[in-house]
This record gives sequence, structure tokens and C-alpha cells, in this order.
Amino acid sequence: MGKQGILTVVSGFSGAGKGTLMKALLEKYEYGLSISATTRAPREGEQNGREYFFLTKEQFEDMISKNELIEYAQYVGNYYGTPKKYVQQQLDAGKNVILEIEIQGALNVKKMFPDALLIFVTPPSAAELKSRLVGRGTEDMETINKRMKRAAEESQFMNSYDYIAVNDKLDECVEELNDTIQRAASLLVEGKKFDAEKDFSELIEKTQKELELL
Ligand code: 5GP
Repeated sequence: MGKQGILTVVSGFSGAGKGTLMKALLEKYEYGLSISATTRAPREGEQNGREYFFLTKEQFEDMISKNELIEYAQYVGNYYGTPKKYVQQQLDAGKNVILEIEIQGALNVKKMFPDALLIFVTPPSAAELKSRLVGRGTEDMETINKRMKRAAEESQFMNSYDYIAVNDKLDECVEELNDTIQRAASLLVEGKKFDAEKDFSELIEKTQKELELL
């Protein structure tokens, strides 16, 4: 049997700049990015089959019942899930695959794929997060507030991740992600466990406190 690729899960608060980061990472390096299914409405400029497979609730529930998803979760009133087929094909072909999903999904993936590398992306500050969400202009204030509340809840799970990347300068963050994934992939081939070689506890505590205060 050939070598299996590494499965990397990237999570981060809504507005942490994950979308831009993933786009830049994929333009520069070769990874397979899984396209999720969702029941949320497309944002302006989003295309079916590119950002997401946009489904009705019935279509999504049909995929659940046919066991066609690796994981799925509800996020601020909508379903989001990872189709199985693409991920399994890519991994079996030895390709490194990235899932960009929220925390519940990430933790479920880790249960099914214990070798998966879990990376959390956080903005330099919680205030920056809110201003990015407002600046994006694609959500109303009610949704933004729900997403901020969700961020505060999600921050409680940051310590379940293998690595935390601060998305301050895009180019640097892209390199940091690629280096981390490549290091984890090499360790996996050698049968060794990933070690971040960094202590994230102060960063986690600071982020949790800032989000509580917003
Ligand atoms: P957005 O609506 O901003 O595109 O995504 C909302 C959240 O859903 C983000 O945190 C994103 O990472 C997450 N998400 C996207 N696709 C999936 C998926 O397939 N599964 C899970 N569990 N979360 C997803």
C-alpha cells in the first residue's frame, strides 16, 4: 500500500481570515481542499461547487441518512458537513487534504482520524475579529453578534488543537501553516506523534478573556 496523505483540519473564529488564508495556501502549495456542503445561503460572489455545495435542508438530511458525510454540525442555524468521497480518495492517493471546519466537526474528525492534525487560526485580537466581521459587510449585526458569541464558546476548545496560528501577516501565516503541516506529515511517515514545540496556554487565555469582554 502507498503512503496515505495527512489530513489537516483548520478551524478558527468566523472572521479570522481563514478563507483568505486557505486560498493563499492553496495557490502556493499543493493541497486538496475539501468542499463542504451547507444549507446556508450563498454570499455574494460564492459559487455552488467552489466555496460550498449549497443544499436544501432536505438534500442535506438525505446525505446524512445515506452516511455520505464524514462529519456534520449545526452552526448559527445552518448545517455544514464534509462529504466523505473526495477526502477518502485524496488521502488514499497519498495527497495531503485540508478541511476548513468549525470546532465540533474538528473534534469529531479527530475521533475518526486520530492522526489528523488540528490547527486553530486566531486573529491578533478579539477587537480585530469584530472589525473584520463588520468590515466584510456580508452579515447583519444580529448574525455578527451570534458569531461573536459562538467565538467565545469556541475559544473554550482551543486547547484541543495541536497547533495555534495567529493570522496577523497573511504571507507569514501561510508559511507557518505549510511548515507545520509538512513537519506533521514527515513525523506521521516516521510513525511519530506531532509536537507543536510551543506553549499556547498564554495565547489561549488572552483570547478567551478578550472575547468574554466584547
Ligand atoms: P461560513 O458560513 O462563514 O462559511 O462558515 C461558518 C463556519 O462553518 C466556519 O467556522 C466554517 O469553518 C464552518 N464549516 C464550513 N464547512 C464545514 C463543514 O463541512 N463541517 C463543519 N463542521 N463546519 C464547517
